[in-house]
Amino acid sequence: MNLSDNEFIRYSRSLMLGDDALERQLRLRQARVLVLGLGGLGCPVASTLISAGVGALTLIDGDVVELSNLPRQQLYQTNDVGKPKAKVAAARLRQHNPHPQLQVLQCRLNDEALREAAEVCDVLVDCSDNLPTRLQLNRLARETGKPLFAGAVSGASAQLYLLNRHSACYQCLVDPDWQMLQNCRSMGVDPALVTLTAQQLAWLLLQYLQASADQIAQAVPFGQANQMPFGQANPVPFGHDSSIPFGHYGRFAATDYHIGFHWYPLQQNPDCACCGTAQHGAF
Ligand SMILES: [Zn+2]
Repeated sequence: MNLSDNEFIRYSRSLMLGDDALERQLRLRQARVLVLGLGGLGCPVASTLISAGVGALTLIDGDVVELSNLPRQQLYQTNDVGKPKAKVAAARLRQHNPHPQLQVLQCRLNDEALREAAEVCDVLVDCSDNLPTRLQLNRLARETGKPLFAGAVSGASAQLYLLNRHSACYQCLVDPDWQMLQNCRSMGVDPALVTLTAQQLAWLLLQYLQASADQIAQAVPFGQANQMPFGQANPVPFGHDSSIPFGHYGRFAATDYHIGFHWYPLQQNPDCACCGTAQHGAF
């Protein structure tokens, strides 16, 4: 397997990034990613993955483009209002890079259909804007054993969650009553913060998708070794591809001399209805 001449030219700047750059580009071309939600997070995540040369994307969204989406959702234009997001997004992404395969699912999926889509992907990305969808994808990530990268932005706050079968799951962390009330329809949202959060998510996805199996295997204990109460620990450092911080969440902060995400370890809830050992036994 190698890149075509056309791909060598297209990805030439990425191919300058280190001795293993070609292997990393080829791993990315082998990868299939599921992106659920093509809003303010999903548009830039999908766009960056396609631009970088991911092999295949499954795009899922049942909504149509609304006028109030346009400040954040840059795959759509004014004359797209009223059109299905998944279809419009796929057309724009194909124009940008014809090499990746695109699967378009233009509806809200039941468990069976979503599981079928998830099982053939290497990683699941939650860019949705409502708690029932987040919990559905979280449950299916746990059932299929796929890593789950999730982002959430409302008001002026943003979080990222990096979860796998060894870590806490999303349901361990949420207070349903609180989360139900917090979304961009009720809280408003900062357009630049959404894009910044999406690009942080895309950067992490690319680190993961381009890492070797050895690098990923080394990364697993990182999330298990730092179990501390949710939200009460100090930020933890992490580096490039050898330490994808699964089992951690990132919280955006703009404080003295630091603008970006602080990372904290997550603690599994033993009583969690999705992953708790009290409910199901050990995964
Ligand atoms: Zn859980």
